[in-house]
Parts: sequence; structure tokens; C-alpha cells
Amino acid sequence: MTVDRILQGKSREIASTTAGASLSAICSLLAERRIGAVPVLEGKTLIGILSERDVVRALALGGATALDLPVGEIMTRNVRTIGRGTSVEEAMAIMTEGRFRHLPVVEDGRMIGIVSIGDVVKARLDAQQREVEDLKSYVAGAA
Ligand code: AMP
Repeated sequence: MTVDRILQGKSREIASTTAGASLSAICSLLAERRIGAVPVLEGKTLIGILSERDVVRALALGGATALDLPVGEIMTRNVRTIGRGTSVEEAMAIMTEGRFRHLPVVEDGRMIGIVSIGDVVKARLDAQQREVEDLKSYVAGAA
């Protein structure tokens, strides 16, 4: 199974931000959208990612004044991305090795979606469940 299958089951609207947005605006965005990370775009180009971990780190270092900092000062710039043809297993391995829980999906230089560790785990569990059901009906049919 590829990550494309996961994207098909998700909303096409992707929450994103720009490098000039304030950290406090990002806190509101993460809370309102119930998400853990937000891609940072310049036009249509992905230039960074900011996750709740980055917010916590900035607050621990700078206290409440960090809320006024621009996203560009805090975000991770070297973003690992995948294509829509990447397998769910590979996406899981990349997240595990990189110790992050979000992977933007990029096609022709444009971000077309983002998958989280939660999406990947759910896809794997659903696939395993289907396999169990198929095996059960195969065994029942053979009996
Ligand atoms: P997360 O586990 O996704 O909340 O992110 C943990 C850390 O990794 C944060 O510093 C993020 O900015 C960073 N991060 C998240 N996703 C990626 C990614 N796809 N590529 C590189 N860094 C990332």
C-alpha cells in the first residue's frame, strides 16, 4: 500500500503557514485544527516544518516572549519529504529513523499532502484487519 491511499482518505485542504507568522498564531492553528505540525510554505514551495515539539522547545528556552517570535526562526528547515508512491512501510521507517511524526508528500516541487504517524499506523492496522478477515473467510470456505 502506498501513502497515496492514505491521502485519498484525508481532506484535500492542507493547513500551512508562512515564515513570518508568529508562534502564538501557530499555537492557535495547531489547537483549532487539532494537528501536531504545520508545513511552512513560501508561495507553493515547502521551506520548513514546525511541530508542537518546536513550540515547546522555544517556550522552554525563551519563556512566554517566544510567542512573538516568527515561525522562520524556530522551524526545521531541512524537511524530509516523500512522494505519493512511497509505501506505508517505508514512510513508517523514515519517521522512526528520523524521530519525527510527520512527512509532507511532494509532487513536482509542490506539497500535495502530509501524513502523520497516526495515519500510517491506522493504515497498517486496517490492512492487517482486512487480511485477518480474508483468511477467516478462506478457512471457513475450505471447511
Ligand atoms: P514531530 O515528531 O513531527 O512533532 O517533530 C519532531 C521534530 O522533527 C521537530 O523539530 C520538527 O520540526 C521536526 N520534523 C517534523 N517532521 C519533519 C520532517 N518531515 N522532516 C524533518 N524534520 C521534521
